[in-house]
Amino acid sequence: MDLKQYVTIVPDWPKPGIKFKDITTLMDNGEAYKYATDQIVEYAREKEIDLVVGPEARGFIIGCPVAYSLGVGFAPVRKEGKLPRETVKVSYGLEYGKDVLTIHRDAIKPGQRVLITDDLLATGGTIEATIKLVEELGGIVAGIAFLIELSYLEGRSKIGKYDILTLMEY
Ligand code: IMP
Repeated sequence: MDLKQYVTIVPDWPKPGIKFKDITTLMDNGEAYKYATDQIVEYAREKEIDLVVGPEARGFIIGCPVAYSLGVGFAPVRKEGKLPRETVKVSYGLEYGKDVLTIHRDAIKPGQRVLITDDLLATGGTIEATIKLVEELGGIVAGIAFLIELSYLEGRSKIGKYDILTLMEY
């Protein structure tokens, strides 16, 4: 299936010059969403995943159906102040300024094989921060899966030593 036909390119959003890849038109097509999910599930099976971890909010949209299909758990990575119990945190650079991502301290058991999911790899900052959280808790990043990679932003160079699956490339 050619998944790109389900992605809507929105010009000049959220800022002039940006061509935003809107995946909501892929998600609201049952066949396309299932096909994309199944590709990632197949990849995760090969990697013998124990747990799926994804950053809010679109990492949940990709990761939760994968976790359900595998029969493993899902641990959310969230912005600071959103998780109710003890967390570990990491700050990461945005285009302007900084942001903080957190995960519950007991979300991952040391040695668990983790699949990280997100909708899109751009500069790689979000996923690099997510990797740090997983590894700080002793998790093994066994694979990372995205629907979309914006290869011209070279995010892969930040996470090149990990095994990466992307379903579409721009
Ligand atoms: P990065 O940290 O620069 O790799 O940015 C990736 C994050 O920004 C992901 O969590 C995406 O959800 C979001 N993002 C950046 N550009 C787009 C886009 O064109 N469409 C959808 N999400 C995007």
